[in-house]
Amino acid sequence: MPDKALLFNIQKFSLHDGPGIRTAVFFKGCPLRCRWCANPESQEAGLGAGRYYTVEEVMETCLQDRPFYEESGGGVTLSGGEVLMQAGFATALLDRLGEAGIHRAIETSALAPPAVWQKFITHVDFLIIDVKHYNRERHIEGTGVSNETCLANLQTALDNSKSVLPRIPVIPGFNNSLKDAGEFTRLFTAMRISKIELLPFHQFGEKKYADLGIPYPMQGVPQLHREDLALYRQVFIDKGIET
Ligand code: SF4
Repeated sequence: MPDKALLFNIQKFSLHDGPGIRTAVFFKGCPLRCRWCANPESQEAGLGAGRYYTVEEVMETCLQDRPFYEESGGGVTLSGGEVLMQAGFATALLDRLGEAGIHRAIETSALAPPAVWQKFITHVDFLIIDVKHYNRERHIEGTGVSNETCLANLQTALDNSKSVLPRIPVIPGFNNSLKDAGEFTRLFTAMRISKIELLPFHQFGEKKYADLGIPYPMQGVPQLHREDLALYRQVFIDKGIET
């Protein structure tokens, strides 16, 4: 296990990364290149934004908020970037959190070698898995990689009775049509998934691209709001998928 991990942020009092009040630990490095990525500083595994942390340092920060986790049913979420890119360190951290009785979640694209994935998820209580597209070619267009391993790993998590919440980042012009919603429901029904989350596209990352001096493919694309997704959401509900 590497002694240290490269993180780009540790965010306390997060309410959007799993149940209750959570501390979100953002790992640096990602094998995807999503056109809409709101954290472009997280993608490269080298330094720039972020720094190296020991397990002890991360634990110290996480333990400070234990009363809030207990009060709210919260815990710690490992996010990114892609946490699986630093799986050894993350496993050690998850084990320490488990020993401390803290609920452990991850936010992931589930892109990892299946053998690594299978072992890794045994250390996690709750998985939020981004499903970006049902179609292989469209997934490659939007993220630079195929969805085959991601979907196979999602299935493995379900087969192992893990607590899984699939989440669709709903992106204009990529996966936001009602036809897309219909295809997603077909996929989820086949996988016996009964509850998902929709994450409407936002522009929180726009300024970061300017600061980093890199072109932003989603420049000027209007944000989506909850009410914009009413019909899209209804497609899932009509098929018995809680959304
Ligand atoms: S998976 Fe997440 S961190 Fe990686 S490029 Fe896509 S949006 Fe960004």
